[in-house]
Amino acid sequence: MMSFGYKPAWSEGAIKCPVFQTSTFVFQSAEEGKAFFELAYGLREKQKNEKTGLIYSRINNPDMEILEERLRLWDEAEACAMFGSGMAAIAATLMEFLQPGDLLLYSNPLYGGTVHFIEHFLPKYGIRTQGFPAGMNEEELSNLIEKTGCADRLAMIYLETPANPTNDLFDIALCRRVADRHAAPGRPPLVAVDNTYMGPLWQHPLQHGADLVLYSATKYIGGHSDVIAGAVLGSETLIGRLKNLRTFLGSMISPWTGWLLMRSLETLKLRMEKQAANAQAIATFLAAHPKVKTVHYPGLLRPEDGEPYRIYRKQLTSPGAMLSFETVGGEQEAFAFLNNLHLIKLAVSLGSTESLAQHPATMTHAGISPEEKSKYGITDALVRISAGVEHPDDLLRDIGQALDQVAAKRIAAIGKAAKQAA
Ligand code: PLP
Repeated sequence: MMSFGYKPAWSEGAIKCPVFQTSTFVFQSAEEGKAFFELAYGLREKQKNEKTGLIYSRINNPDMEILEERLRLWDEAEACAMFGSGMAAIAATLMEFLQPGDLLLYSNPLYGGTVHFIEHFLPKYGIRTQGFPAGMNEEELSNLIEKTGCADRLAMIYLETPANPTNDLFDIALCRRVADRHAAPGRPPLVAVDNTYMGPLWQHPLQHGADLVLYSATKYIGGHSDVIAGAVLGSETLIGRLKNLRTFLGSMISPWTGWLLMRSLETLKLRMEKQAANAQAIATFLAAHPKVKTVHYPGLLRPEDGEPYRIYRKQLTSPGAMLSFETVGGEQEAFAFLNNLHLIKLAVSLGSTESLAQHPATMTHAGISPEEKSKYGITDALVRISAGVEHPDDLLRDIGQALDQVAAKRIAAIGKAAKQAA
């Protein structure tokens, strides 16, 4: 993966692919330019061994193309398209594969930005949407689709698993079967999976029957909180359609972003494994702490948990580095915890080398209605943590002392209330 797609001889022997900071590329002849455009615009089929030549950095650029080649190896996908953000990747996918009148079935909860796009943008274009919670079996899901009254227009099942921020797990193979059951002639519904929470390392949705896998590359793939990007992977045909739309939306990545992400990919596995080990240590510590009500982390699942445990063992190769937990109390206690962290940064985003903590109900998922939030467990007491690569002792010490502060604040509040009542 580290050297795939690039030869030093192409760039004066440079061992690393340079940043091709250029907007346009010179054609050797007008005929060559014409041939490149014919392929880029899909005006004719590719001849044997013919490659799309470099044209213009909105269409293609070596830093974007070599990155796409490397990223697709992780998921063993035929093709990959990079986008300027995870949301750009998600939005392009939904716009390209859904038409007015179609039905989109989506797992709930989802990242707040995705929910906003699905619930506020898609209906403007006549796309019907239906959410569903974790734990539904094949029959229940099929019945839900039938109940919408437009089962014959099911065009996509969109999943985020594990779900942000609760780590709810959805069975990808089950959704594939449901999609196939509702296939209209010549147009089987697509199954698309936002795999951001597992990165390209710990879950491979294409192997479980998904057609498309999406990433916010801002997260583990970038991994250093210094770049915003997104990716979609799948068959050459589907990704070809997305690249075509990307050309006209102008939502590609810059050469510099491509270079940064190639650099990040070289340490992806090392970073992610260390982050997961830290997350397991944090989750175990929190689960035993008296000021913690619940911890959501796949690594704490046991056989007696039933379906979630079964999905975890079947679909994931690691419990990951994302966890959420509820403090005893509500928003006040959750905020006291966040405000008293010293090492862990109070910031949204995830999957980076430094540990981050945030409050989903008022931050990443602030736009979701109170009813939906309470339905999907995004409570006022919920805190989300993204484990970084720091020393685990430092992380546990920081979390422990911040929880002590919560306890002190809670005792003071109870004392005040008791005095007022007296
Ligand atoms: N998907 C998930 C699961 C996310 O957590 C996020 C962002 O937090 C996104 C998509 C959107 O990615 P981006 O911020 O790169 O647009």
